[in-house]
Amino acid sequence: MFKKILVANRGEVALRVMRSAREMGIKTVAVYSQADVNSRHVSEADEAVCIGPAPSNQSYLVIDNVIMAALNTGAEAIHPGYGFLAENAQFAQACADNDIVFIGPSPDAIDKMGNKGVARETASAAGVPVVPGSPGAIATVEEARDFADEVGYPVLVKASAGGGGKGMRVATDADDLKKQFTAAKTESLAAFGDDTVYLEKYLLRSRHIEIQILVDRDGKGVYLYERDCSVQRRHQKLIEEAPSVVLTPERRREMGESALQLAAAVDYEGAGTVEFLFDQDGSYYFMEMNTRIQVEHCVTEMITDRDIVAEQIRIAYGLPLSFSQEDLAIRGHAIEFRINAEDPRHDFRPSPGRITRFAIPGGYGVRVDSYLEAGADVPPFYDSLVAKLLVWGADRDEAIARAKRALDEFRVEGIATTIEFHRACMDVETFGTGEVYTDFVPTEMGDWNVK
Ligand code: ADP
Repeated sequence: MFKKILVANRGEVALRVMRSAREMGIKTVAVYSQADVNSRHVSEADEAVCIGPAPSNQSYLVIDNVIMAALNTGAEAIHPGYGFLAENAQFAQACADNDIVFIGPSPDAIDKMGNKGVARETASAAGVPVVPGSPGAIATVEEARDFADEVGYPVLVKASAGGGGKGMRVATDADDLKKQFTAAKTESLAAFGDDTVYLEKYLLRSRHIEIQILVDRDGKGVYLYERDCSVQRRHQKLIEEAPSVVLTPERRREMGESALQLAAAVDYEGAGTVEFLFDQDGSYYFMEMNTRIQVEHCVTEMITDRDIVAEQIRIAYGLPLSFSQEDLAIRGHAIEFRINAEDPRHDFRPSPGRITRFAIPGGYGVRVDSYLEAGADVPPFYDSLVAKLLVWGADRDEAIARAKRALDEFRVEGIATTIEFHRACMDVETFGTGEVYTDFVPTEMGDWNVK
C-alpha cells in the first residue's frame, strides 16, 4: 500500500480522506492556504505544506504548488477530494508526468465527462438514455427557439462547461428564451471562459437520482445503489438520502447497470457518480457524471457499510475491488444535511466568522463530518459547507425522527447556519411522505424567502 499520500483539499473532505488513510496505515500530507493555517486538516495531518495566500486561485488551485508539495514531502499519491482540482484533467496529467498517482480516473475520462455536451453524446452512444436535448451546441437564439418549439416549453439553457448551477437558465416561453439564452452565455463565459451552451427539455416535478459506482483497474465495476438529491435550492443540493423511495429493485438494477455502461465506455477507474433525472412516469435520463468523490457519498457508506474513500485509495494503488455486486445489500435508510455557513433568514447570504460554540449531536445512527470546533474561523474565501450531519435509521421514518432530534441537538453559535432551515424541512408533510421533487424548496419552503 502507499506509505504517504497528499490531500489536495481543505475543510471536512480533507479530514474525511485523512481519516481513511490513517486507518489504512498511510501517512498524510496536508496543503493549506495562509487563511487555513489553524484549520483542523492541518493539525490532524502528519505533515503540512503552505501553498499560498488565501484566495484559492493563488493556493488550492495552483497545480504547480500542489505538485511541488507532493514531491518535496515524498507523497506517492494525491487525493483531490471534491471541488478545487478534483475534476481538472490537467492536474491529473501533471500528477502522472511527475510519477505521482492521482487518486481518480484518467485525464482522458475526466475530460470526456467534464464537458456536459460531450458527456451527453458519450452517454447516448453507450446506450444510456439522456434528457431530450439539442443534438449539439446552440449558437443563436433562433436555433434555440427552433429546438424549444420542437420539444415544448419550459426548456433549460445549459453551459457545456457548466457546474455548480452556473450558466443554467430555465426559459418559459419564446420571449423569455431570448433573455435566458443571453444570460446563460454571459454567465458561462465569466465563470468558465467558454460560452458554449446547449438546450434540454426542462423536466418539471422530476427527481434527482444518482448512482454511486466504483470501478477497479481491471474494469470490474460495482454500483452502490442510488442517492435521491431532490431537495435543492437554485439547483444545488441541500439534503440527500438513500435509498430513494421510488425505485423498484428492477429500476435500481437498470440504473446501476446504465451507470456502469457509461463508465465502461470511457475506461473509467475509481469512484464516480452518474446523475440522472427521474421522471414521474418512471423514466430516467442521464444528466452528467461527476468523476470524483461527492459531498454526499457518506449516505451510501451508511446504507452499504463500505468505506468509499478507502476503496478509492485501494483502487488507485492497483488493487482489485474488495467486494463484488453480490456482496452488497441496502441496510436501512440514511439522510444527509449540508450545514452551510449561510443565513437562511436572509436569502442564504454567506455567514463567515468565528465559531463561539460548536456542540454536535451524537448517539446511535448519527455521524457528523466537520472541520469546525469552538474558536475556529470560517474563512470567507471558500465553499460555505462547514459540516455534514448524517443520520441512519432502520427505515425512513426512523431516520427522519432521528434527523429531527439530531438537528435540535446541533448548536452552532457565532455564525448563521442552515441547521434551522433543515429542521423546518423535516416538518413538511410531503417530505414525510417522500413526495419530494426538485421543486421542493421553492414550493414548500416559500416562507423562507427562498429565491
Ligand atoms: P450543475 O453541474 O451545474 O450542478 P446539473 O446538470 O448537475 O448542474 O443539474 C443540477 C440540477 O438542475 C439537477 O439536480 C436538477 O434539479 C436540475 N436540472 C438539470 N437539468 C434539468 C432538466 N433538464 N430538467 C429539469 N431539471 C434539471
